[in-house]
Order: sequence, then C-alpha cells, then structure tokens
Amino acid sequence: MKDLPARRLLLVHAHPDDESINNGATMARYAAEGAHVTLVTCTLGEEGEVIPPGLAHLTADRDDSLGPHRVGELAAAMRELGVADHRFLGAAGRFRDSGMMGAAQNDRPDAFWSAPVDEAAALLAEVIREIRPQVLVTYDPDGGYGHPDHIQAHRVAMRAADLAADPAHGAGAPHTVAKIYWNRAERAVVEAGFDALRTTAPDAFPGIAAVDDVPGVVGGEEITAEIDGTAYAGAKAAAMRAHATQIVVDGPFFALSNDLGQPLLTTEHYQLVRGVAGVPAGSREHDLFAGLPDAPASVPGAGVSAASASVPGEGV
Ligand SMILES: [Zn+2]
Repeated sequence: MKDLPARRLLLVHAHPDDESINNGATMARYAAEGAHVTLVTCTLGEEGEVIPPGLAHLTADRDDSLGPHRVGELAAAMRELGVADHRFLGAAGRFRDSGMMGAAQNDRPDAFWSAPVDEAAALLAEVIREIRPQVLVTYDPDGGYGHPDHIQAHRVAMRAADLAADPAHGAGAPHTVAKIYWNRAERAVVEAGFDALRTTAPDAFPGIAAVDDVPGVVGGEEITAEIDGTAYAGAKAAAMRAHATQIVVDGPFFALSNDLGQPLLTTEHYQLVRGVAGVPAGSREHDLFAGLPDAPASVPGAGVSAASASVPGEGV
C-alpha cells in the first residue's frame, strides 16, 4: 500500500466541472489540511455545450474534441484546489458522456449510461482498495438533477463501496468506507442566494435560473453536514473559472451554458447516508471525518504495510 496521509477523501463525479461546483471548497479545505483527496471523474464531458464562441468548434457535433479539452480544464481546476490525485474511471475516455436524458447518445455502446454498473463499479473498487478512503462523496439516486451520467455515477459509487468491502470480490485487501455522503444544497440557502442575485446583480446574466435547477436541493432537515468554505471561496471560484468552456463566474454568482445566473455556494452541504455521524442527531457535522478514530500519522519513506497503515477500528 502507498504511504498516504491519515485522512483520505474520495469524490466520484460524472463530468469535469461537477467537482468544482459541488465540492470545490470542501476539496480545497481537505487538501490544505493535508488529507489525501482523490477525485474520480467518470466521463470527459464530451457532450457538453461550449460557452466561448472561439471554442465552439470543439462540440460533439463539430470536431468532437471537447473531451480532451476538458481534461486540461479539469487539471487546471485541480491545481487551483490543490488536489493532485485526479483520475478518470478506468482511463480517460473509457466511458463517454451520455448526453441529457433521452438523447440519442444515451444508447451509444461507449456511453457511461450503457455501461454495466458492476463493470464500472469494479474499476472504482480498485481505486477504493488502493486509497482506502474513510469518506466517499457522490450524488443521490437521482444524480442531483436527473442527468443519466450523474445517476450512473451514483449507482457505480454505491456499488463500488460494496464491492471494495466484500472479501469475495477481486484482488486486494477488502476496505470498508466508513462514511458515505450525498451532495446536497440547502433550499433556504439557495433561495437567499437567488434573492441576492436578483437584488444586487439582476443584469449580470441574460437570465436567472430557478431554485430547482440547482442539483440536490433539499430542506434543511435532510442535511447532516455543512462545510463552511468561506476561507476557500477564492479557490473554488478559480477552479470553476478553469472550466471555461462550461462556466462563467461573476463575483458570488455563475452561469452554465444556459446563461442563467445562480449563486456560487461556498458553504457546501451533505447528507450522511452510510456510517455513523460524529455529532448528536439533529445537529450538523462540520467535518466529514467527524467521529472517526484518529488515524496514525504516516511515516514518510517507511514503506508501511497494508496492516500497519490501516486505521485502528476502521473495520475490514
Ligand atoms: Zn455533470
């Protein structure tokens, strides 16, 4: 096993840019605190639209070269967040963006939506057994907003956690992820953000999105963890700007290719769906690792074995 920091966080996303929009502040925080942050992105986002007119030729219906371009955007975003370990599921281009629900691209044999869940999950389980994360972050069963690749990313992430923990599955030592979270956005916070957009910058974008256009919006009672990303707001905005074909950032607001403004949320919300919360029921965690046993500091260059590097009480 690699000599990795004691705290290890894995995030699973559908397309380049989803990680910065949903978790940019969280990723920057844990990277800055010395945790090992791993991003697995399932597709290259080949079917995305393109905002800058000068790059319009990249789209799937023209040059079909948006995917490789977005690999570069993602790398730039990860530099802004301080995240060194970012990978594509299987390899770059192994699974293709499936397009919006109902699009003809859903049925392409290389579309992520067409991939058998167990096949894709086995690839992710390899990463889980390599990194041995205590915390996994992904989408809810609807993928936050119904995009096929987001739904599939959810299915693959949840299945991979099961496979990685199953001693009967594949090669490598089993690993149980202690806590799994789904990405959430708190309705009241999102509404306040839209109010601010309407009052302070009504003309910043050609239009304004609706609250329910924001993925993963739920009432506050479903939210169990809240990461205050105020200190990392600049890093998050810079990471989003790095996805220049997909996002325009204007102060505390941004728009996707639909030109509809929405708030850039620096406090990021989560729902714990597997594992034990580190705080009493009814209160919110402010650390995704809350309640986990203190992990031993890694010993540089010691070439630790899997056994000595495992976290006490982690349970295999
Ligand atoms: Zn996406």
